Amino acid sequence: MIDSKPITNQQTITLIGAGLVGSLLAVLLAKRGIKVELYERRSDMRKADISAGRSINLALANRGIYPLEQAGLMDKVKPILTTMKGRMVHDMEGNENFQSYGQREEEVIYSVSRGDLNKICLDAAEKTGLVNIYFNQNCESVDFDSNQIHFKNAITNDETLVCFNQLIGTDGSASAIRDAIHQIESSQHDVLELGHSYKELRIPAGKNGEFQIDKNSLHIWPRGGYMLIALPNEDASFTVTLFMPTQGDISFESLDNHEKVSEFFELHFNDTISFLPSLKEDFFANPTGRLATVKCSPWHYKNKALLLGDAAHAIVPFHGQGMNCGFEDAIYLAETIDEHSNDNIDWGKIFEQVDQNRKPNGDAIADMAIENYMTMRDSVRDVKFLLKSAIGFELEKQFPSHFCPRYSMVMFHRLPYSEAKQRGVIQEEILTKLAENVTELKGVDFDLAKTLVLKKLSKVNLNP
Ligand SMILES: Cc1cc2nc3c(=O)[nH]c(=O)nc-3n(C[C@H](O)[C@H](O)[C@H](O)COP(=O)(O)OP(=O)(O)OC[C@H]3O[C@@H](n4cnc5c(N)ncnc54)[C@H](O)[C@@H]3O)c2cc1C
Repeated sequence: MIDSKPITNQQTITLIGAGLVGSLLAVLLAKRGIKVELYERRSDMRKADISAGRSINLALANRGIYPLEQAGLMDKVKPILTTMKGRMVHDMEGNENFQSYGQREEEVIYSVSRGDLNKICLDAAEKTGLVNIYFNQNCESVDFDSNQIHFKNAITNDETLVCFNQLIGTDGSASAIRDAIHQIESSQHDVLELGHSYKELRIPAGKNGEFQIDKNSLHIWPRGGYMLIALPNEDASFTVTLFMPTQGDISFESLDNHEKVSEFFELHFNDTISFLPSLKEDFFANPTGRLATVKCSPWHYKNKALLLGDAAHAIVPFHGQGMNCGFEDAIYLAETIDEHSNDNIDWGKIFEQVDQNRKPNGDAIADMAIENYMTMRDSVRDVKFLLKSAIGFELEKQFPSHFCPRYSMVMFHRLPYSEAKQRGVIQEEILTKLAENVTELKGVDFDLAKTLVLKKLSKVNLNP
């Protein structure tokens, strides 16, 4: 075991985990003159041919774009984005129905490669000259009495003790830093298994390099208890994800041979078969990922440690917000540091403020993400849901300072998730009332709508 020297420079932060959140946070901290020691258990994805981990591409929305802008990275990120303007819903008969996500031109989300985005952040972090990245270093444990971290090299098995001043865990949903904090601090730590899992498949580009289904949509095949989705990639392929129960009659467990997989797709997703040439091979070659929500508290320990990103709040992927929320955590920390920059920096105060502000928001998006699974796999094909969406857009047009559809609040704006959730509950009551006994938008009582909106909803600040 090799011991490192204590860190003497007070402005050095040690980060564990160079995934999306850790690498972006390193850039944001370095921009504030803070030196960063960043440890990652995997190899350098820019050199080794390793997958970036689960989910090849991700939906990037406003909350994630703002921190990337603040880090000065959007010029690099823009060229690798594919715009998704809405959901393309595919029914059992093979018909397509496009549902716009928003009603303004800029109200879109983007598909982005996880690996490429991570590489941009890693490059930018190194370029600052203030970030040292150590790969193949697995954090095994933390001793908060001596401020030391125990690492094991994933290739050589060499063990090292490294000193830290402040430690931030951006080490994902199975966080070692979370375990370390919760061993010494009385804590609440819930892992809520969804009971559903996912598997990634692939629609390749067409023969002439073209997109085989609409390029600018997030495609959904909703089937009630399960669903298939597809997000576009820059190379004209689509990453397809099947979400379904882990066990049971229709489940990953029950699809245990090639024939059953073929039969299942022929029956439920027949229109995708011609686009999925390696369906059976991919189905058995690719891992099945389990889905769970992690809620924990506290997110920090004194002035010594803080959790951000999935380490603090792993959520299910149905709102496309896990990374976006983690990026928002990162910019919130950076801006909190700015607020305190005239004082002698009190990390205990900063970590506590981040914990108090971000925890309710992490919990809120976790809940909304679970609710959105039902919306995606079921409600999007329900006429009442479509009518309520249309009424929601109309209310937004008529009362823009009071009403904004919940999906838009989460995806296109930056008001706190907890506020979006609270307002969403009231708005849903209003929409349910207005959609009662009505089948078309023109039948809606807009005098009643005005009374309800102005009485029940305060003015909204969408981008505080
Ligand atoms: C199927 C799926 C689809 C998703 N789609 C979306 C989407 O569309 N939009 C969206 O915003 N989010 C999405 N997410 C969520 C998103 O992937 C996560 O929220 C995001 O990756 C969190 O980033 P992170 O940096 O906190 O954690 P991670 O990405 O998990 O990174 C953690 C890093 O820490 C390293 N590490 C872990 N343990 C240690 C250790 N002990 N020592 C050293 N290093 C360690 C890991 O190797 C990794 O590099 C999706 C998730 C899934 C599963």
